[in-house]
Amino acid sequence: MQRAITGYHRDDAGDLVAELACGHGVHMRHRPPMVSRPWTLTDEGRASRLGTAVACVRCERFELPEGFVAYKRTAIFTEASVPAGLRAAHTTKAGVWAQIHVEAGSLRYCVESPALAPQTLTPEVVGVVIAERPHRVELVGPVRFFVEFYRREEAPLAR
Ligand SMILES: [Zn+2]
Repeated sequence: MQRAITGYHRDDAGDLVAELACGHGVHMRHRPPMVSRPWTLTDEGRASRLGTAVACVRCERFELPEGFVAYKRTAIFTEASVPAGLRAAHTTKAGVWAQIHVEAGSLRYCVESPALAPQTLTPEVVGVVIAERPHRVELVGPVRFFVEFYRREEAPLAR
């Protein structure tokens, strides 16, 4: 899935990592002739790529970004109380991920645009909601579940 570059940092080896809007990082190496990214070498080049969308394989793999922490959860919903909004396609805000935790029963979780194979969530199978990606849930029977939201942990003031 395509994600905009929002910033940069260097990893422990000094290699450039582009920070993406989803919360993931992707290495941007300049290793000619195999990989040519001369824009990574200068401040101007890097600045010119801010906002550019690049493919994020970690989003495709449903990987909750490192350093993200839970900050909020919904009430517990049942088949009788699930909000209509969760059953229609909807998205989280930029930079917000979520997990769908089924406590009892099961729930179908559908990811759209483009559509992926639906997943059946159970107490053993947690659903991962990818930031800004349209998704919805479908009832398949009795269920008790809640949704927990994740975002990047606030940077310590000392940084
Ligand atoms: Zn990503």
